[in-house]
Amino acid sequence: MTGLPGEFELIARLAALFGTPPDGLGIGDDAATWRTTGNTVQVATTDMLIEGIHFRLDWTTPGDLGWKALAVNLSDLAAMGATPGRALVSIAVDAARREIVLEVARGLHSLAERTGTRVVGGDTVRSPGPLVINVALVGEANPARLLRRDAARLGELVAVTGHLGASSAALALLSERPAPLDPAAAPLLAAHHRPVPRLAAGQLLAACGVRCAIDISDGLASEALHLARASEVGIEIDVARVPLDPAAVCLLGERRSRELALAGGEDYELLFTFDPRLADELASALTIDGGLTVVGEVTDRVAPGTAQLVEAGHPVELADSGYVAF
Ligand code: ADP
Ligand code: MG
Repeated sequence: MTGLPGEFELIARLAALFGTPPDGLGIGDDAATWRTTGNTVQVATTDMLIEGIHFRLDWTTPGDLGWKALAVNLSDLAAMGATPGRALVSIAVDAARREIVLEVARGLHSLAERTGTRVVGGDTVRSPGPLVINVALVGEANPARLLRRDAARLGELVAVTGHLGASSAALALLSERPAPLDPAAAPLLAAHHRPVPRLAAGQLLAACGVRCAIDISDGLASEALHLARASEVGIEIDVARVPLDPAAVCLLGERRSRELALAGGEDYELLFTFDPRLADELASALTIDGGLTVVGEVTDRVAPGTAQLVEAGHPVELADSGYVAF
């Protein structure tokens, strides 16, 4: 999960420092991989959530926090086409709130049970300040079917699973509107507090021949840029085609929902590219709510290593006040 300004450059420097492993993926994808003796690769990821930055305990219950801490990691495995997995869970908490640890663990356990993930260890330490939870997760994948960030090719279509913008719409409502929230916000709050990682969809895409994917943790626009940079291709995203969450549109309007879908983040849907010849097979195989939506293409109209948003054929740009024409 990103969050630091200049994180692209920082991670490029870390990758240069640590180097590339000879037997799999190192720094730079949703997860690292390495070969074992069998016909699979191990797939490993880790993500950390910090109180005050990634969550607030007046908006999130400890159980929801535990669920989400595992979900964000499972989402990285989903983006590789991998299956879970064993997890290590580390929590730092101040002594006065130590009973929270078990509540966090119960929420995490419910998602672990649902996804076939086993928690096999971790660490519990005292923190003088914010609560911090870190999950490290290892799963498995078929090396011939791995979904990678660097596998997008010219001429492919770009698509997403499900609807986008629900989680950040919930956050907007929590921060902008007085409690109690409109009952119509319930699905948005569920998407924010208990996101369901797209594990089955990731494996299905991989089985159908898709080779390039990333999970949408930081908003469609920035994830498209990650794919474009890693694959050294140009990606064009048509903002009118982005599938918006219906409850977000109902409560926040279409324009705001579209901005949140592009830049809001925490959707944990998958963004992927595929050969147009796979379109029919993918559309009928992917039966999840919202299915898949083609939102753009890998094209030489856009400079390699960049992602361009377009609206009615014209380039638009994301800005703090929403998206604006160049
Ligand atoms: P994601 O959003 O999928 O979790 P990130 O953007 O956080 O991915 O990380 C990008 C890549 O950089 C990943 O391969 C991750 O493992 C690696 N990475 C991030 N921080 C560090 C670090 N401090 N040391 C080594 N690798 C890191
Ligand atoms: Mg990711």
